Amino acid sequence: MTVVSNKAGSHVTVVGGGIIGISCAYYLRRAGYQVTVIDQSTIGSGCSHGNCGLICPSDLMPLASPGAIRRTLKMMCQRRSPFRIKPTLSPTRWLWFFKFAMRCNGRQQLQAAQARWQLLESSMQLYQEMLDEHELQCEWQQNGLLYVFQNEHALEGHSATNDFLAKEFSIKGECLESDALVQLEPSLLDSVAGAWYYADDAHMRPDKLMSELKRVLQELGVEIRENCELLRFRRRGLKALAIETTEGEIEADHFVMALGAVTPKWQAELGTDIPIQPGKGYSLTYQRPAVSPRIPMLFPQHKIAMTPMDTGYRLGSTMEFSGYNTSINQGRLSLLREGVEPYLGQPAGEIIEEAWYGWRPMMYNGIPIIDASPRLRNVLVAAGHNMLGLSMGPATGKLVSELISGEPTHVDAAAYGQLGSTH
Ligand SMILES: Cc1cc2nc3c(=O)[nH]c(=O)nc-3n(C[C@H](O)[C@H](O)[C@H](O)COP(=O)(O)OP(=O)(O)OC[C@H]3O[C@@H](n4cnc5c(N)ncnc54)[C@H](O)[C@@H]3O)c2cc1C
Repeated sequence: MTVVSNKAGSHVTVVGGGIIGISCAYYLRRAGYQVTVIDQSTIGSGCSHGNCGLICPSDLMPLASPGAIRRTLKMMCQRRSPFRIKPTLSPTRWLWFFKFAMRCNGRQQLQAAQARWQLLESSMQLYQEMLDEHELQCEWQQNGLLYVFQNEHALEGHSATNDFLAKEFSIKGECLESDALVQLEPSLLDSVAGAWYYADDAHMRPDKLMSELKRVLQELGVEIRENCELLRFRRRGLKALAIETTEGEIEADHFVMALGAVTPKWQAELGTDIPIQPGKGYSLTYQRPAVSPRIPMLFPQHKIAMTPMDTGYRLGSTMEFSGYNTSINQGRLSLLREGVEPYLGQPAGEIIEEAWYGWRPMMYNGIPIIDASPRLRNVLVAAGHNMLGLSMGPATGKLVSELISGEPTHVDAAAYGQLGSTH
C-alpha cells in the first residue's frame, strides 16, 4: 500500500463519507495528500448504505430519453406506481422537471450516456484493482445482470436498447427465452417471457464495501471524523481557508463537497445553482430465501431490482420526488414485494432485516457534477450520481484527485464541468 508522491504536506478535507467522498479520499491519499474526511453521521450511512449494490455499466442509459415524459405520465396514472411526484409549489422542483423534459431527445441522451460510460467503464476496472490490492470483504461477485421481462412485447422492446448499447459502447447482451432463462436461473417462474443477460456486470453488499473502504482509508493514514457536521466556510476572496464544523474548525488547502442529494443546500456558499433533486428510493433486506437466485435481476416493467448477497437478499426500487422527506411509506415497501411476485418462485426471504430509504442525488440530465465552485475556487463539488453512484464512485474519486493535482485526467473532465468554472 504505497502513497505514490508527496504533495508537500498539502491538506484536503473531504466533506461527506458516502461512496463518492470515500473514493475521493482514497485517490487523494494515494496521490500523496494529507486527507481528512468528515461526515455528519457515520461513514456510509447516507444513500450509499442500503442501495442495491449493483455495479452495472449495462444500465448506463439516462432517464431523460425520447418518450420518457409519456412513459412517466402513464406510470403515474397506474394505481400502484413505483414512480411518484408529490404535488409542489417549489419553483426549484418545477424548473428541474422542465430541464429534464428539455433533455428528452436522442442527441442529449447519447451525450449523457457517453459521460456516464466513461465513469462506469473506468470504475469497473478500478474496483478490480482495489479488490485485488486490499482484499475487500464485501461479497463481490461478477455474475452479470438479468433484465427480466414478463411478456414478449417488452422483451422484444429491449432489443432497441441492446442494439444501441452494442453500437455505441460495445456492450453486448444475450437474449434468453423463457426455457433457457429458467435453466440458467431456476429461481425464476417459467411464466416469464425471457431476459437480456449482461454477463460483465457485478454486485456486492454496499454496507460491507463502505466499512471495508473505511478500514483501507484508516490503514492509509486518512483522518476520519464522524458525527462532525459542516456548518459554514471561512473564506478570503475566492478561497476557502477553513470549514467550521460542529467539532471545531478544520483548515485545508482544498475541500471536496461530496454530499450527495443534500448538496443544493450549499449553493449559496458555493455561489452557483446545484440542480440536484432527492429521488427517494426504498429497499428491503431479507434473510436469504431457501431457493436464492444466483444472478441479480432488474424487472424493468415493475422498476424493481433484486440482489442476492452471501448474507442477505435485497429488493429495491421506487422513485419518489417529494423533497427531503424522511418518512418510510409502508405502501411503497409492499410494492417491492408484490412487484417481484410475477417473476420469482420465492419472492422474499423469511425475516426482514432492514427496511430502508435513501435519497438518490438526481441531476436532471443524468450527468454528475465534478467541478470547482465559481465562488470558492479551491472547493470542488462531486455529486449528482443519480441511480449509479456506487457504479461510478472510484472513477469519480480518481478524477477529483487528478483535477486537484493538476495532472492529466484519465477521462474527459469537461463532461462533468457543470458549475461554469473551467477545469
Ligand atoms: C433504492 C436505491 C437503490 C440503488 N441502487 C444502486 C445500485 O444498485 N448501484 C448504484 O450504482 N447505485 C445505486 N443507487 C444510487 C447510489 O446509492 C447513490 O448514487 C450513491 O450512494 C450516492 O453517493 P454519495 O456519496 O453521492 O451520497 P451519500 O451516500 O448520500 O453520501 C453523502 C454523505 O454526506 C453526509 N453529509 C451530508 N450533509 C453533511 C454535512 N453538512 N456535514 C458533513 N457530512 C454531511 C451524509 O451524512 C452522507 O454520508 C441506489 C439508490 C437507491 C436509493
